[in-house]
Amino acid sequence: MDRSDILQTARQCRHYAMCKIDFLETGLCPAATDRPFVSFFPQGRMDLFSGVYEKRIPVTKELIHVAASCNLCGICDKQCHFVTGLRPLTVMKALKEYVQDFLGKGHVPEEFEPDDFLIELQAITGEKWASSDPAILLPYADDPSPGSPFTMPRYVVMPSSSSEVSKIIKLCGTEGIPYAVRGNGSSVIGFVMSTGLVMDMNRMKGIRFDEKNWCVYVQPGVSAFELQKEAVKKGYRVNAAEPSALMCANIMCSGIFSNFSHSYGILADNYINAEFVDDSGSLINLNQVDAPNLFSNEKMGRKSPGVCTDVGVKLYPLPEDEEGLIVPFSGMEEALSFASELGRRRIGNAVGVLGGEYLSVFVSPTEELARSIKDFFSRTLGIKYAVLVLADKYDRKIIQEMKNTIISQKLLTLLILGLADLNGNESLSMIEEYTGDREPYEILCDENILPLLESLIDSSPESLAQAVPEDLKSFYTELYSRPEMTNMVWLSMFRIISSRMGRFKHPVAFILYVPMDNIPLILEIDSEFKRIGDKHHIHNDYGFITPLDMGKRGVFEFDYYVDHTNDADRENCLNAMAEAQEMIEGFCSGANGVKWIKSVLYQGFCRSENLLYLD
Ligand SMILES: Cc1cc2nc3c(=O)[nH]c(=O)nc-3n(C[C@H](O)[C@H](O)[C@H](O)COP(=O)(O)OP(=O)(O)OC[C@H]3O[C@@H](n4cnc5c(N)ncnc54)[C@H](O)[C@@H]3O)c2cc1C
Ligand code: SF4
Repeated sequence: MDRSDILQTARQCRHYAMCKIDFLETGLCPAATDRPFVSFFPQGRMDLFSGVYEKRIPVTKELIHVAASCNLCGICDKQCHFVTGLRPLTVMKALKEYVQDFLGKGHVPEEFEPDDFLIELQAITGEKWASSDPAILLPYADDPSPGSPFTMPRYVVMPSSSSEVSKIIKLCGTEGIPYAVRGNGSSVIGFVMSTGLVMDMNRMKGIRFDEKNWCVYVQPGVSAFELQKEAVKKGYRVNAAEPSALMCANIMCSGIFSNFSHSYGILADNYINAEFVDDSGSLINLNQVDAPNLFSNEKMGRKSPGVCTDVGVKLYPLPEDEEGLIVPFSGMEEALSFASELGRRRIGNAVGVLGGEYLSVFVSPTEELARSIKDFFSRTLGIKYAVLVLADKYDRKIIQEMKNTIISQKLLTLLILGLADLNGNESLSMIEEYTGDREPYEILCDENILPLLESLIDSSPESLAQAVPEDLKSFYTELYSRPEMTNMVWLSMFRIISSRMGRFKHPVAFILYVPMDNIPLILEIDSEFKRIGDKHHIHNDYGFITPLDMGKRGVFEFDYYVDHTNDADRENCLNAMAEAQEMIEGFCSGANGVKWIKSVLYQGFCRSENLLYLD
């Protein structure tokens, strides 16, 4: 690989922070154990390589430290390939070589003398937890959103307690330094950047269970994945979304929506109590009588109530007899009315109407496979939409009464482990010829045909691993030998495959709350998104809809995909985003139950009723 290919890999980093959680049980990047600034994670090194190669930062003492701390173990190659298909190890090597070359030529790294503000920050947190070295700052300066300008902060700090947070905020106030609070930065839309200080919350990782009150208290450095893992060990689960998203940040930013929001809700439904440090540095507990009213929702948006330093998240018992199933559909309207009926009847714990793109991308370990499988699902089998349901044994019985065409967990496992064999499998392509007036997927879902399918499809971890590069085959074979890797319940709870949606290109997600009793309106919004995306030559697709509050409302995602390293694509995407924004505001201004995520930013602690039902 030459330097320009390596640079292209580095610039393609999606910034979803998946290399900051141990989602494949490979262990975490050992380089980041001591000081978990982003720079010491593979994500940060990707930025640092492009930064130093393009001369945006000089070689500094910290850069040498960062390069030396990587032992080329290759964990990042496995993690990143699983999600994005990228191979960061070449970049890690190139960064080391760049630095060795620099030192080999007798150059001296730049040193940055701390200014007074940094000295005061370090007095609060300890020297190693605050920095103004460009090699620490750069990974906090950018993200793949086409609307986020490169914004280099002057300082980054990692507090370890709410008292340190309070002192930092007071210091910023006195010195007039602006600041941004950062979880894992995976909101990827420029919210966590600042020209002043970035406060990275990743040192505050406390988790405290209060089982008798069905609650777990988490500090702001705890990710969804880490919390879910601890909750499951104790026989519970929480409503969490992206695995790398920090819980406090996710509630703050989007109020947490997931397929479980069908039964567990959104926004204030997710938590019991919370603590904040406000912008004067004072500590607030939401249960105190004079606490600010975070239950209200302001349509035009509102500024952040402060830094959330602790949140009590609701616990739910893990149902013993829960299993996933998928109900396939050839049209969106039928899929939506089925999901909405599940909502009205309160059937299932988690429900999501997925599009063909999501389904094929989620289950496939490579982009090429995802593309061919999308074709196989939609053309050969006729599956355009799929309603995913997690349900206990009683609810599964009811669903079987409602629909006789169901992809069971067993069939889905067979299909996932057989993905590499599906498209070219001649026996399967003959299904179409025997369908008569039935959809091809109806034959596939026939229980009696399962033994035949088992004999026709080459389905095993080894077979699936045929799709990945030679040197990763044994890793993928071992990985997919683990039952959870094809288990709908586990995958929905831990969501380790959802960020594969960014593998082809970075998705700009539009999230809307929509009335589920007005399906024609939802179809209209969907086709408007598509019309605008197509007009601006932006790859676009329906994402998902989850029914909320007994099928009265739903949360709807539509995505525009952008190659953030391509100027023309960025420009097209920005134009499409501007037009889509106008379109959305038009729908929101009518009294028709449409709201969008903008009315949730910094209001994720509000009552769901205030967002969903107050015009
Ligand atoms: C591929 C992908 C899929 C996604 N799917 C979903 C989904 O299904 N559901 C969903 O809910 N979200 C989803 N998201 C959005 C993402 O999970 C949220 O934006 C989440 O907040 C990101 O967490 P983070 O720790 O990276 O936050 P950051 O990006 O670091 O921060 C998000 C915001 O919260 C603020 N913030 C961070 N920490 C604190 C704190 N302690 N106190 C006060 N403010 C704080 C930041 O200033 C920023 O404004 C998705 C994102 C991606 C990339
Ligand atoms: S190769 Fe380097 S950057 Fe990648 S996981 Fe190992 S130590 Fe971390």
